[in-house]
Amino acid sequence: MNYIIIGNGVAGTEAAMAIRKTDPDGEITVISESKHPFYYRPRIIDYLAGEITVDKFTLYGDEHYAKNRITCVLGTRIASIDAKNRSALDTEGRAYPYDRLLIATGADPYVPPLEGAGLHGVFTIRGITDADRIIGFCQNIEDIVVLGGGLLGLETANALLRFAKRITVVEYFEWLLPRQLDRTGGAMLQDMLEKKGLCFALGESVLSIRGEGAVESVLLKSGKEIPAGAVIISTGIKGRNELAVSAGAAVKKGIVVDDFMATSVEGIFAAGDPAEHDGCLYGIWPAAREQGRIAGLNMAGAATPYRKTLPSNALKITGIDLYSAGEFNRDDAETFSCSLDGSYIKYLQKGGPLGAIILGDPGAIKIAKNVMERNGDPAELRKIIGLTSS
Ligand SMILES: Cc1cc2nc3c(=O)[nH]c(=O)nc-3n(C[C@H](O)[C@H](O)[C@H](O)COP(=O)(O)OP(=O)(O)OC[C@H]3O[C@@H](n4cnc5c(N)ncnc54)[C@H](O)[C@@H]3O)c2cc1C
Repeated sequence: MNYIIIGNGVAGTEAAMAIRKTDPDGEITVISESKHPFYYRPRIIDYLAGEITVDKFTLYGDEHYAKNRITCVLGTRIASIDAKNRSALDTEGRAYPYDRLLIATGADPYVPPLEGAGLHGVFTIRGITDADRIIGFCQNIEDIVVLGGGLLGLETANALLRFAKRITVVEYFEWLLPRQLDRTGGAMLQDMLEKKGLCFALGESVLSIRGEGAVESVLLKSGKEIPAGAVIISTGIKGRNELAVSAGAAVKKGIVVDDFMATSVEGIFAAGDPAEHDGCLYGIWPAAREQGRIAGLNMAGAATPYRKTLPSNALKITGIDLYSAGEFNRDDAETFSCSLDGSYIKYLQKGGPLGAIILGDPGAIKIAKNVMERNGDPAELRKIIGLTSS
């Protein structure tokens, strides 16, 4: 059996390993546009902050591929998939025939249609190369504006504090991390981040990025203009679906897959950031890892369904402990919450655990994680909250 995997992120890498374990004799080729061997993408933030070197978060080198008899072709972009002839074609016209193929192409940053988004000094961040560009550019910049107050935007802003005198995060919602926090939690987090030196423009959106050739300022819809020597756009991701489209596979919000990570085209599977399973696009590492593993097993003939991933998030900013999982804006749920000495805990249940937010209490984070992953006793969490039901 000949397996082709497009993408050497966590989904592609896990798939290759699952195939090898299930099919000791199959030929496995991983092809990736990235020239970097497989690395732990979330640590790009630490790299941006100057805290680690690339070798510290590179996970697999040549010996891993040799040992597992996996051919790894880096720096090569697949341009299209010819599903009829079961072949993937790279940009140089080389053909890679397959029996089973996995699209594990990850995502690109989403850039809203903004005037000035193409100016010199405007960046997005996804990989090591992007981080290198930002580090190179920001050395002597006084003002940086980050568009987007989600997890990645806040982590990026915090990492860049080492360069700029003033960093302003612009967020459309009225509080930070609108997908992970409620208003109370968002306000507490804002206070913590302001103490670290970040500035915020909340409930604001950007009209345009201004400058003559290079970026000079960001104009907000309210009329306020923020000086900016650099702008980082962190307004979400868009899955790389183009190969699925070329193969004729069904694409809605993402590449539609069934419980076995199979697309609508025979022999073609998808996993990770671009895959849409049961209407869900996850965009997080644990989901990409699990989907990759499940796709690999199914590609090699070990029928194994994907059982969904609990969406949970942590903020990687030293000194700020934050965990958020599940749903927390439900009126029909039992809600327990308390805020004490700079910490905030909220827990929702309806039959079983529904959602949890923990800010500023590492002990409670451990307990909440177990509860949300159904390995812990909710009574323990409710005890910490002191049964302050709201
Ligand atoms: C800075 C940053 C921090 C993050 N922090 C966290 C975190 O703390 N927790 C968390 O859960 N998630 C985090 N994420 C998200 C997480 O990293 C992703 O969900 C995960 O890496 C997705 O893995 P993937 O294998 O689907 O895709 P990717 O890791 O994006 O890998 C896809 C690979 O496919 C290659 N490729 C794409 N198209 C082609 C093509 N046509 N031909 C050949 N190769 C191609 C790309 O070059 C890439 O190497 C973070 C993301 C970023 C950018």
